[in-house]
Amino acid sequence: MDQDVKVSQGTGDRDGAEFPENGRITVDLGALADNWRTLAAQLSGGARCGAAVKADGYGLGAGEATRTLWRAGCRSFFVATPQEGARLREDLALVGPEATEAEIYVLNGLYSGAAPAYSRHGLRPVLASPADVAEWADHARRTDAPCPAALHVDTGISRLGLSPDEARAVAASGFCPALVISHLACADMPGNPMNDRQLGRFRELAGLFPDARKSLANSAGIFLGPEYHFDLARPGIALYGSQASANEESLLKTVVTLEARILQVHPLKKGDTIGYGAAFAAERDMQVAMVAAGYADGYMRRAGSASGQPGARAWLAGHYLPVLGRVSMDMTAFDVTNVPMDKAVPGALVELFGPHVSVDETAACAGTIGYEFLTSLGARFARRYLPDTAAGTAPLSDAAN
Ligand SMILES: *Cc1c(COP(=O)(O)O)cnc(C)c1O
Repeated sequence: MDQDVKVSQGTGDRDGAEFPENGRITVDLGALADNWRTLAAQLSGGARCGAAVKADGYGLGAGEATRTLWRAGCRSFFVATPQEGARLREDLALVGPEATEAEIYVLNGLYSGAAPAYSRHGLRPVLASPADVAEWADHARRTDAPCPAALHVDTGISRLGLSPDEARAVAASGFCPALVISHLACADMPGNPMNDRQLGRFRELAGLFPDARKSLANSAGIFLGPEYHFDLARPGIALYGSQASANEESLLKTVVTLEARILQVHPLKKGDTIGYGAAFAAERDMQVAMVAAGYADGYMRRAGSASGQPGARAWLAGHYLPVLGRVSMDMTAFDVTNVPMDKAVPGALVELFGPHVSVDETAACAGTIGYEFLTSLGARFARRYLPDTAAGTAPLSDAAN
């Protein structure tokens, strides 16, 4: 099985055989596929499950993620930019000619002047303004092949999308989108009245397009319940194993593990300080491991600690390791006092997050969310992809899709 594990080196490593890794991101593609199947199964009543793979699959590698999700049965993919979409088309082509069936939606909308390029790459813009609609309709009239597109209606988040009046005008013009979407502002807060308000507006505006499929729910929206599911869900973060909502329980598996190498282990005497600003002073004698990941790798500076102010923690050989002092650009200090001496050694890999420390916990310690942590992980990490061993064995029933 280990020879199936795909490894790509980070930019810091010229050649995997020549230098050991500074650190690595391990993506468990089997867990990713299982999470998709779990979310798809939640969508009882016939809604299908797509996947948001924007921002390079939330930093994990859109190509590997998308091919895995395709094999699990996913057919609708959401990216942010047309550039990401064109790249995804190429990534999907590696699966085989049948993958041309995959729908790729570009959430940022139609970039003016690029309609022919969207069609060339088989991309569906999520049209977000009357100008977008007019330009795409004009493009469709000049083109022989069908030009399916989605329509984005704003129901209260006030980011992209048509206002209610604009949506009514587009419906009156006879324009027929393949899909109508809207996006929830507060889906991660199940009790927030905004959810209900947006649901009501979406029912009304999407209802103007009776022939279109409808899509409202992101990850957290799925957990709001069946009224939010419509025809197609668009989960992102939940697929990648970060908690989308307090509603969610722990149905979803850990997908990503971040590890970095111990560079050096040394004692810190009571009263010694460590790192920039001498922000942390030892209250007792301790053992410190310097670990090769810092803010330049996306291990955020705000995850650091100071005396009297705890920071993030890591994990090694059955023990939690508190961060000691400020996170530097290329390294971070961790307390390994309780770790057996033969485990806390140079070259050993420390878990920065993964099965023992959740990405959500680490992100919270840095004052942010799992989304930002995952999409900030730097290019110096090598990437390992553990294969989805269940691929091809699971029945792809239509109901599960
Ligand atoms: C990013 C995004 C999603 C996926 O959101 P998650 O919270 O990651 O599930 C869905 N729809 C739109 C419009 C998005 O921008």
